[in-house]
Amino acid sequence: MGNTVEENLKTVRQQIALACEGSGRNVADIQLLLATKTVPLEKLHMAVQAGEQLFGENKVQELRDKYPLMQQSNDLEWHFIGHLQTNKVKEVVKYVTMIHSVDRLKLGQVLHDQLVKENRTMDILVQINTSYEDSKFGASPETALELVEALSQFDTLHIKGLMTIGKLNATNDETRQCFRLLKQLSTQIQERNIPHVEMKHLSMGMSGDFSIAIEEGATIVRVGTNVFGPRYLPDEYYWNEHKKIED
Ligand SMILES: *Cc1c(COP(=O)(O)O)cnc(C)c1O
Repeated sequence: MGNTVEENLKTVRQQIALACEGSGRNVADIQLLLATKTVPLEKLHMAVQAGEQLFGENKVQELRDKYPLMQQSNDLEWHFIGHLQTNKVKEVVKYVTMIHSVDRLKLGQVLHDQLVKENRTMDILVQINTSYEDSKFGASPETALELVEALSQFDTLHIKGLMTIGKLNATNDETRQCFRLLKQLSTQIQERNIPHVEMKHLSMGMSGDFSIAIEEGATIVRVGTNVFGPRYLPDEYYWNEHKKIED
């Protein structure tokens, strides 16, 4: 991928438009979130210059490093998309406007306690492991409704939808099944009319599968590689680190 960030963005935006056209959706209903793990600031600035405003980080450490410099730009928004340990909650809420990866009650409780102290609220998505892969975080689809109901007791948490990572190295059909399942869960949850719960967003789709995700109802697609080029760390580094110590 020898193209510039700007050229890559143009291509991705075109592909988003195409997927929308093919599935009767409105481009304005899809948010492009740029996944910036391992990406140097220089490239982030290029994306900002090209008009991008929504960024997502997987690790609090990287967020902390990039945040001050990126804030010099304009009204940029950061979302947290990685596995969140409870001991990082206090710091992460300083930087982000949404957390996509709430996948257990304990995390909701710790977030709530922190937000109460600060007298604020936070938009969250509930992460579901739709591929049933061991390497992925996320609540199991079977417990999704129960978890959302339990999380809804925390009135500082505004539940805005669901997030998933589609099955990797899979056929298009398998990937599509993951996204379809997330959409189904979101519809089921919506039908319950749970207070504080709004199934407005489906955060799904990455570089390899965002077109399929849009066809299946994504409202936020999270794209890294197709915009910034390949990364040197395998994604497992971000996805199943501390899998056993969820805390
Ligand atoms: C890295 C990452 C992405 C983007 O992945 P690409 O394949 O580089 O587009 C999206 N979502 C999450 C949770 C990620 O960790």
